[in-house]
Amino acid sequence: MNINTHSNFYDKDQKYVWHHLKPYKKNQNTMIVKSAQNAWITDIEENKYLDGMSGLWCVNVGYGREELAEAAKSQMNTLPYYPLSSSHLPAIKLSEKLNDWLKGHYKIFFSNSGSEANETAFKIARQYHHQNSKPGRYKFISRYRSYHGNTFAALSATGQSQRKYMYEPLAPGFIHVEAPDEYRKPLEYTFEEWSIICAEKLEATIRYERPETVAGFIMEPIITGGGVLIPHPSYVKKVQEICQRYGILLIIDEVICGFGRTGKKFGYQHFDIQPDIVSMAKGITSGYLPLAATAVKEEIYQAFATEKEDAHFRHVNTFGGNPAACEVALRNLEIMEEENLPERSNELGNKLRSKLSFLEEHQNVGDIRHQGLLFGIEIVADKETKIPASNEVVASIIANCKSAGLIVGKNGDTVKDFNNIITLAPPLSISDKDLEAIVEKISKGFNTEL
Ligand code: PMP
Repeated sequence: MNINTHSNFYDKDQKYVWHHLKPYKKNQNTMIVKSAQNAWITDIEENKYLDGMSGLWCVNVGYGREELAEAAKSQMNTLPYYPLSSSHLPAIKLSEKLNDWLKGHYKIFFSNSGSEANETAFKIARQYHHQNSKPGRYKFISRYRSYHGNTFAALSATGQSQRKYMYEPLAPGFIHVEAPDEYRKPLEYTFEEWSIICAEKLEATIRYERPETVAGFIMEPIITGGGVLIPHPSYVKKVQEICQRYGILLIIDEVICGFGRTGKKFGYQHFDIQPDIVSMAKGITSGYLPLAATAVKEEIYQAFATEKEDAHFRHVNTFGGNPAACEVALRNLEIMEEENLPERSNELGNKLRSKLSFLEEHQNVGDIRHQGLLFGIEIVADKETKIPASNEVVASIIANCKSAGLIVGKNGDTVKDFNNIITLAPPLSISDKDLEAIVEKISKGFNTEL
């Protein structure tokens, strides 16, 4: 393809495509990706990049899996679509497999995106309380810095003001509490002590709001988009105890942490808890087709398992649980099992962390944290004061990584206006050689000797 054809695509792209999240810049040629294999993407100019973010934290089994394309093709030829007001075999098989992975008995409600999975969770939680004669329980508590989606309720639960203030007023009844941040905790406490204090703040918030008005608490096992905040196990355990004590449903958002990303099948499995509701998307199909699910504990479902008039869940999702998407998800989970990808994520995560130790010496690297292949590298202007680095410093590291052939992500604390955490979440199937390549490219990106 010659350069004129390329410029044609860039022009048409600028003319017709509204890019997600991207700030407008005049005459900026956005990367146009044309193909991908394993952990590598190729753009229309034949530039190759190691995809350190698995797309948008989702291509867990890597690109170019023919089995997934075959699964979609064969299902599309057999039954491309049927609504889940009836049933079909791919949905049944996938629901059974998800129950295996969740290690509990859950009813699975399918939709298409993480946002919808969370919306579904909120509606189920509210109706559950209604059906248990507690209609006053309508509020949801979530954490600052979390991201739970772009639709009105999911955005209301999101704890990042920059993403919200243009669209307010959002849905009423959403309240936020602080999430423990090990790197930025007050110095006088150990992380465990600070975690317990944060859990106690949640309890205090519940009491201020009155427990009989609270329907659910939603959290990611590890805050991802808000800067990779890994909790102390005591925090998660205590949060579950508090939710149980006050009759509040614990909703765990596994949209990013699920499907091996953190080194377990689901992120919550690092902690000794069993959620009431689990929302999932992204890695469920490794991004090959849109699919999401809301898994609801059988005991919660029982409130809906009555022939009383009006007791059913009044929620329909046209494309949710599309048969081809379910088949792809099923095959995707089988690949993860066959290749032990959750365990691999754990091993490679530890390996990558130790190989990145050289970065600790870098003047702008304040903290490197990870669980499995989910990494956050916090960039500061000054290590002593932990003042976040400017957007320019962070942007230049990201641009240098890209010039070295590595795509990384960026997140932060949008409440405080820090956008200083570089993220890495490569495919869990990444080869040892490509893991080495990440290290080498990061060292170029940070302009540091290995
Ligand atoms: N929850 C979390 C934790 C997410 O990271 C995201 C998306 N990045 C969502 C929910 C929303 O998912 P989607 O973009 O598929 O609606």
